[in-house]
Amino acid sequence: MRFTSRLNLLLALLALALAFTLSAVAVSVTDRAVEDRARDRLRREIDLLAEEIGPRLGDPVRVADLVRRASRLLGVRVTVIGADGRVLDDSDVPLSQVAGMENHAGRPEVVAARATGYGTSVRHSATLETDLLYLARALGPDRARAPVLRLAIPLAELRQVESQYEWILRGAVFAACALLVIVGGVAVARLARPIREVTDAALAVARGDLAREAPERGPAEILELSSALSRMKSSLLESVARVEREHRLADAVFETLPDGVVVIDAQYRVIDANRSFRAMTATPNPAGRPLVEILRDRSLFAPFEEAIARRAPTDTIVRRENEVTWQLSVRPLPAGSRAAAVGILRDVTAFERNEAMRRRFVADVSHELRTPVSSIAAAAETLTETEPDDPEAPRLVELVRRQAQRMRELIDDLTDLSLIESGEVALSPEKVELGALASETAEELRANAGSRDVSIRVESSDGVTVEGDRRRLGQILRNLLDNAVKFSPAGGDVRIRIDRVDGRPSLVVEDDGPGIPLGEQDRIFQRFYQVDRSRSKVRPGTGLGLAIVKHLAQLHGAEVTVASRPGQGSAFRVTFRRDAGEAGG
Ligand code: ADP
Repeated sequence: MRFTSRLNLLLALLALALAFTLSAVAVSVTDRAVEDRARDRLRREIDLLAEEIGPRLGDPVRVADLVRRASRLLGVRVTVIGADGRVLDDSDVPLSQVAGMENHAGRPEVVAARATGYGTSVRHSATLETDLLYLARALGPDRARAPVLRLAIPLAELRQVESQYEWILRGAVFAACALLVIVGGVAVARLARPIREVTDAALAVARGDLAREAPERGPAEILELSSALSRMKSSLLESVARVEREHRLADAVFETLPDGVVVIDAQYRVIDANRSFRAMTATPNPAGRPLVEILRDRSLFAPFEEAIARRAPTDTIVRRENEVTWQLSVRPLPAGSRAAAVGILRDVTAFERNEAMRRRFVADVSHELRTPVSSIAAAAETLTETEPDDPEAPRLVELVRRQAQRMRELIDDLTDLSLIESGEVALSPEKVELGALASETAEELRANAGSRDVSIRVESSDGVTVEGDRRRLGQILRNLLDNAVKFSPAGGDVRIRIDRVDGRPSLVVEDDGPGIPLGEQDRIFQRFYQVDRSRSKVRPGTGLGLAIVKHLAQLHGAEVTVASRPGQGSAFRVTFRRDAGEAGG
């Protein structure tokens, strides 16, 4: 039940109780007033009659006449009681029956009149069967023994008149109370309106209508309530804004993580997945879909099942097609939330490749070192048993020197590469004429090339000059030339061409060797990468030469490209950014 309805009910009950009490009080007051007035009237009449009857008590006929006349004229019952209490006459009783009437000495009004001069009482008269108001008066100075005159009027008669007024009075009281209820009801309604308005505003806010304002009118208490509601609303808005900000931040972090993250429920359905996961699994809208459908790979899905079943983390390496490797970590989430587990997919292909490369590098270096070290050890062993003038001795010494040289080259290459890669190489730039550098380098390698029956030719346009470190540019050229000679067939021909392409200085080393498959052309510039490792037995190498070339070219702002077809030779081209003479250095 509403507060206002209760208030209205209470008001109505109170008004009803008030009406009953007031009308009861009013009726009893008017009763009393009517009785008092009747008593006054009887008093005046009894005094008048006493003066007439008192002196004539000895004349019963006269008394009887007076008694009946007065009764008729005044409309009252008149009784005369003797000193001994016997009724001497009574206006309402025939004379013949008066003698048989009960002794009246004990009637309360008679007793009182004898004691104080006057006596009154209200009693039910058995004779007349109605309530009567009695007033008695002692006749004579010796009250205790005096005869008594008594008048009586029926109260019913008086009250009949009075009851008409009583109804009017009652009507007025009830009308006043009804008015009170109406006025009270209106007042309650007026008081309730602002409360209603504040309540409505609070309910609207609770429903999420945060734009709803609390009312700004009404009594002070309501205004306080309104302002409390407004404050509550603004702190709610602040909290909502803060939660939204944090949510956005968490979302942004989640979205931009480089690892693929997927959150699933206990039914293995995707709740959320970030951009990397969507890209890695090529699924634009994974939310709500079964995880198994998205992963399509038993070895990726099983770790999720295991993590959820055992409530323990799982970490798995999964090899995918195209030599791609993923690391999958699944973490079960605490019970009680919608999410059952989170999966993190990391592409560890590069890391795995590096690892493999590192292992291969160690194997390569060991292998590369083992051959010369074994040769040197064997030669040294033989030398100790050989006489100094033995004609074999110089050959063995030469063998030791060559193998030591090979070892040094390998170590130099490794040191160089690690210095270049870590950015610790400082260039000493100067103007370098590429044609002259090419001729010098060709000259250096000609002896070695000749031993393989390979010739080297330099075709150079004049004046192609670059700004660079002469020693390092020579190293680039030497490595390329070395490979070209190494991979050329006997009787082959290696060309060095120096010219300009689109105005940019360029050098090309070209051979008629086995060429390089298209799919491998990018990878030959990686450290230790060799197209066909079985070839390295015939053409020893470390797989470091082209990596060094690439890095040194980059240090000079140049780029290296290869054009090659299997069986049709290879052409390595280094293109510089500009001539040394050009403005802007
Ligand atoms: P390596 O010491 O093995 O020559 P490089 O880094 O110089 O190392 O070359 C990497 C690989 O690229 C070689 O092992 C070879 O397979 C291939 N390669 C380089 N130059 C040539 C070329 N001129 N002709 C054919 N293959 C080449």
